[in-house]
Order: sequence, then C-alpha cells, then structure tokens
Amino acid sequence: MTTVAVHVPALAHNKAGHPENQSRIRQILPFLDDAGILADLQLLEPELATVKQLRRVHAPPLIERIREVAATGGGLLDHGDTYATPQSYELARKAAGATITAVDHILTGRANNGFALVRPPGHHAEYNRISGFCLFNNVAAAARQAQAVHGVKRILILDFDVHHGNGTQDIFYDDDSVMFISTHLFLPRMFYPGTGDMKELGNGFGHGYTINVPLVPNVGDKGYGRILTELVRPLALQFKPELLLVSAGYDAHWQDPLAMAGLSLTGFAHMAQYLVSLADELTNGRILFVLEGGYQVQALSYGILNTFYALTGQDKIEDPLGAMPQPEEDITQLLHHLKRHHLIY
Ligand SMILES: [Zn+2]
Repeated sequence: MTTVAVHVPALAHNKAGHPENQSRIRQILPFLDDAGILADLQLLEPELATVKQLRRVHAPPLIERIREVAATGGGLLDHGDTYATPQSYELARKAAGATITAVDHILTGRANNGFALVRPPGHHAEYNRISGFCLFNNVAAAARQAQAVHGVKRILILDFDVHHGNGTQDIFYDDDSVMFISTHLFLPRMFYPGTGDMKELGNGFGHGYTINVPLVPNVGDKGYGRILTELVRPLALQFKPELLLVSAGYDAHWQDPLAMAGLSLTGFAHMAQYLVSLADELTNGRILFVLEGGYQVQALSYGILNTFYALTGQDKIEDPLGAMPQPEEDITQLLHHLKRHHLIY
C-alpha cells in the first residue's frame, strides 16, 4: 500500500499579517519526519498545471488576470483580501499541478491514496471569480484531470473546511458526474462566504448533486460524525463514486482563529478514518485529501499527521489540544431536514 504526499509550501506567496501565509505548512515535512511517518510516504515532485488543465475549471480571463497581476508586481485579486505576489501565478499553478500529479499516481495504480499539502488553497475559486484567499481551484482541477485523462465517471468531493466551498460548487453546479458535499458554518452576512444554504442543490442535470450542510457554531465531534454516517454515507452509496476527493480544511478545529465549529483533533482523525474506510468500500481505496484552510498551525499540523495515520492504515491519533471546552450543539433537527431534502430514509 502506497500513500503519496506532495508539498507546495509556496513560501513566496505570502503577505505579512495575513492568515493564509507562508508559515502554515513550511515546517510540515520535518514535523511528519519527527512523528516517524514521513518514511512511510512517497513524496512526489510537484509539476506546474498547464493552462489547458486550468481551463477545464476556469475561464480564460481569470487565469489571465492572475498571470497579469503577478507579472506586474502583485496586488489584490478581488475586493476582499485575496492577494498575489510576483511569484503567485507560478506557485498557484504548482499547487494545482501538484494535486493533479497526486491524482495521476492514484489513478494509474502507482499509489492507493494520498494528500496534497498545497497552498494557496482552492475551494473558493469559482469558474470566473477569485475569492477567499484562493487562486486556482486545486481539487476541481484534479477532478477534471481524473475524468479527462483517466476516464473516471463519477467523483465525490467532500469539503469539510469550515467555510462553504463556493468555488467548487460553482464549477460543478450543472454537473451530475461530480457530487459535491460541503459542511460549513452558515451565518449569512456574518461568516464568509455566506453561500451554502441547503436550498442550493445544483442546476439542470446537476440538480441533487450539490449537497450543503449548513451548520451553527460548536457542532463538534459528535455532530460531524453523524453527518458522515447519516448523510454522506447513504448519499455516497447511492452515487457510487469511483474516486473520493476531500477538500480538507482544518479551520473547523475549535482553536482556529477564523471560526468556531468545535471539532477536536480526535474528531478530525475519526473523520479521516471514516472516509478512508468509505473509500475502501466504494472506490477501491482511491482517496485524495487536498489541503484547504487551517490557520492554527499546531491544529493544522496534527490534523495532517492524523490524516496520514488514517491513510496508511494506522489507528493512532495524536491530540495534544483536547476537546472543545463548550458543550456541543445537537444537530438532530438539521439532519432530519437534510434527509428529507435529499430523500434519505
Ligand atoms: Zn476555510
């Protein structure tokens, strides 16, 4: 069994004082090495995504805008706080390309599963709109590579980043070949990006293939576990994906400075173990985690480590930060609504 990792720390894509900065995964390889797991992984050399690969998921003007802003010295790419430096065009292509390289390895049988440790993140990047610290949509580019080059028919993308994956939703909104499930805090006008209502279900042929799980704060480990067993699993069994992609953001950790979803490292680890076993059941073990957010570096690092334990079949969990001190919110009512919405009985 081979687990691949690919690392794009993008040190030159950086802005002082910005949460999405170069310190996030700069030290992750020595950290994994100290934990003794790096030797169990096959580290891949990242390649640049080609413009052809990017055009499968983005409009040419979006690609051109990132290239041009970088080429003219960098600056803001949106009306929020999504920045580019002179190196960002190349580094964002590298993040997307690395994710594509990892999926290529899995789909040609050179690896069973893997984790793309990349930045800048991607899940807020829409077909023709840049937002939320994201330049190119890495997970979407990997999904289209799987379909275009490897003939994969059905792909399930699960996004457990604490923010709604509006970019990924947008790219596959009309598409019944990619099921997109996103769990996220949903507090309209108060929490970014404000989309991801359960009424957003997809369009045309894609109707029913977008599933949003909008959460109140402090749902915590038990609630997230129930979402997987009571919602994700039955939907996945119906859909029968051939590949599982995970937009893995660790900002749902209770200590993350950007959010308050209440997950612990143990909760994240149980999710990773569950998803790996779901892949064993449905996709012949083919699962790729793709890094999105996560802004408390210790929670992020241990979250990644525990995910690698799950990917390599070890049931070890390291959780030096413990559980959220507040009580967890009960989501029975929400699950009831969602099951009715998506015809799960
Ligand atoms: Zn996020």
